[in-house]
Amino acid sequence: MDGISVPAEQIVAMDDIAADVLGLRIVFVNVFAITHADGSWTLVDAGLPFTASHIRNWAERYFVRKPNGIVLTHGHFDHVSAAEELAIHWGVPIYAHPKEFPYLTGEKEYPAPNVGAGGMMSLLSPLYPKGPVNIAEHLRAIPADSDQLDVMRGWTVIHTPGHTPGHVSFFRESDGILIVGDAFCTTKPESFFEAALAQQPELHGPPAYFTSDWEAACASVQRLAQLSVRTVVPGHGKPISGFHVQEELKALASRFVDLAVPENRKDQMHHAAKNAI
Ligand SMILES: [Zn+2]
Ligand SMILES: [Zn+2]
Repeated sequence: MDGISVPAEQIVAMDDIAADVLGLRIVFVNVFAITHADGSWTLVDAGLPFTASHIRNWAERYFVRKPNGIVLTHGHFDHVSAAEELAIHWGVPIYAHPKEFPYLTGEKEYPAPNVGAGGMMSLLSPLYPKGPVNIAEHLRAIPADSDQLDVMRGWTVIHTPGHTPGHVSFFRESDGILIVGDAFCTTKPESFFEAALAQQPELHGPPAYFTSDWEAACASVQRLAQLSVRTVVPGHGKPISGFHVQEELKALASRFVDLAVPENRKDQMHHAAKNAI
């Protein structure tokens, strides 16, 4: 599938997204450390299995104190797997949207992946958790009815369901930084490894293999495209920044059905095409 092309000069380095936003890429997925005005900091997402010590070493190079919490954009294995070990090590809670709780408390597993969407995620299946993830002991709810989270002051929590039911994004209005998790990617999500080598970023929809509700996913991207976005900080792909980022995001939103929805899921899109902006 094609994406919205993004000029290479819009790429920003992971350690230079903003003075207070640092990123670390591990294989093909990103985690972020957000510093706050009072010197506290938050870890956003927690990577692949067996990466806890890597994340910890990275974080401890930059920060003397432990984080105030670990915040999850969603509970997929490539965003949650080091969370429990890190939460225990630092003695901090893990925050997620309540709609993500069933998948994080051992109650439910995510719907079976769409193998018809193609791609390399199936190659990673030996890494997938066996049985439902249960980090209930450490879990705290991102308030469903509020757009603020006390550990992430200055950032608006935006519920962006579709990729998963409780997926959230974070937006800082003061400088237009948008942390998107897997609501969409800045690389071709079905070929993370090859795309990681290519210089040229592209806007793509969420990773198709694991996206369960395409109509909601489309509405979420359309909602994000309404914001004054200056910098996109994705779960997969490189961060991008510049005056044109917002236009590129609007282009992704308006061509979402075409560009992002797999052929075998286009039948889910009864209303989205009509609602395209
Ligand atoms: Zn995901
Ligand atoms: Zn992901």
